[in-house]
Amino acid sequence: MTPPRSALPFTALVGQEAMKSALILNAINPAIGGVLIRGERGTAKSTAVRALAGVLPEIDVVEGCRYRCDPADPQRWCDDCRLRAAGGDEMRARRVPLRVVELPINASEDRVVGTLDTEAAIKEGRKVFEPGVLADANHGILYVDEVNLLDDHIVDVLLDAAAMGRNTVEREGISFAHRRPAHRAGTREHHRARRRESRDSS
Ligand SMILES: [Zn+2]
Repeated sequence: MTPPRSALPFTALVGQEAMKSALILNAINPAIGGVLIRGERGTAKSTAVRALAGVLPEIDVVEGCRYRCDPADPQRWCDDCRLRAAGGDEMRARRVPLRVVELPINASEDRVVGTLDTEAAIKEGRKVFEPGVLADANHGILYVDEVNLLDDHIVDVLLDAAAMGRNTVEREGISFAHRRPAHRAGTREHHRARRRESRDSS
């Protein structure tokens, strides 16, 4: 996963009041379900999303959890945290900045939802789950630039995770579940949208 490029401060963005309000409202209340920003190239769509993380408060996550589970919400912990808690582990909290995770347009389903770590399986004979982009973005912002170029199948996967509130993966006889990202943001550009629509209708 490529970390987001260093962002301009959110407050440095001039104009675009509707876009900024939508992003802030969605950050305050993730139940809104996400933001789709549509506009011409160069209208600071991506800059605004990347800058958003800088104005949001830090969050508490379970120390040692790769899925950044919320220590105060055991009902929605990932399977790893549930196992640790059941085994008597002390589930300490750690304060971290909220992340903006970009979903690459060409990402495969395994890259999005996660898959089995084949290296661990072959070398150590263990079944280990390798987290995907949805896990990286858990408790943060999942960002898709030019969402209209995303493969329809990947869109379905994202919508499923959004609807269920969890990402559940079943591979080779093992199943793993964790919470899906709280916030989602996507952008689409007018000219790209037109290109795809004309391709679809041809
Ligand atoms: Zn966890």
